[in-house]
Amino acid sequence: MKRISLLMLIILVAAALAAPAAATTAASGISADEALRLLKEGNARYVDGQLRHPRQDRVRRALTAAQGQHPLATVLTCSDSRVPAEIIFDQGIGDLFVVRVAGNVAATDEIGSMEYAVDHLAVPLVVVLGHSQCGAVTAVVDDAKLSPNLADLVAPIKPAVEKAREANPQAAKEVLLQAAITDNVWQAIDDMLRLSPIIREKVRDGQAKVVGALYDLDSGQVQWLGPHPDQEKLVGGKKGAGKTGKKGKKPKKSEEQ
Ligand SMILES: [Zn+2]
Repeated sequence: MKRISLLMLIILVAAALAAPAAATTAASGISADEALRLLKEGNARYVDGQLRHPRQDRVRRALTAAQGQHPLATVLTCSDSRVPAEIIFDQGIGDLFVVRVAGNVAATDEIGSMEYAVDHLAVPLVVVLGHSQCGAVTAVVDDAKLSPNLADLVAPIKPAVEKAREANPQAAKEVLLQAAITDNVWQAIDDMLRLSPIIREKVRDGQAKVVGALYDLDSGQVQWLGPHPDQEKLVGGKKGAGKTGKKGKKPKKSEEQ
């Protein structure tokens, strides 16, 4: 019995290998724009309730186990259980290199994971995906009392909340929260580019693209924000790849993370 199923699997894998490449979209050599297009299409299917659940069968599992992974994108997003990356982009096994952490912060572990994806797996697209009603950002906006571990975790969100507060001094909490969630996406990209010479170089050389995005928990829609507004400055050609004005090149807070 066992032997038969193994034989079946070998046949399935052989058939998949012989099949036209169109069946498996995620592959090395794909461009960032193409990867972005695939994510947009997948999210549109998800929003419309037309999920295809592609590449989630045992052939794909066997193929990726045998051949290794060639994901089309790395996605840094929140651990929130309502933001499951593969589902909202309608992707399959081996398609997305997902880094999830409360508040989608980019500290050492997250940046290291994304460096691995960009450098070792040649992933062309990096997406930082924030989401509506984010509890981690809300905690910072509310200045909530947190355990030491949680306080450390959300520390990189603070500059984003400060920025949102400065820009929206009289705003209602919901408006401030939304602005902080967006600024937190930019903050994560800022931290990533500033602290990762490898990702900076890949972006500068046009081998990788880093974009921000926001996920709406209610509609399921992903709003694409594009590259960081200061990307050129952040990846810069010169040493320092400077950071946003006032704090100088390297804010200590993030660096210590
Ligand atoms: Zn969240």
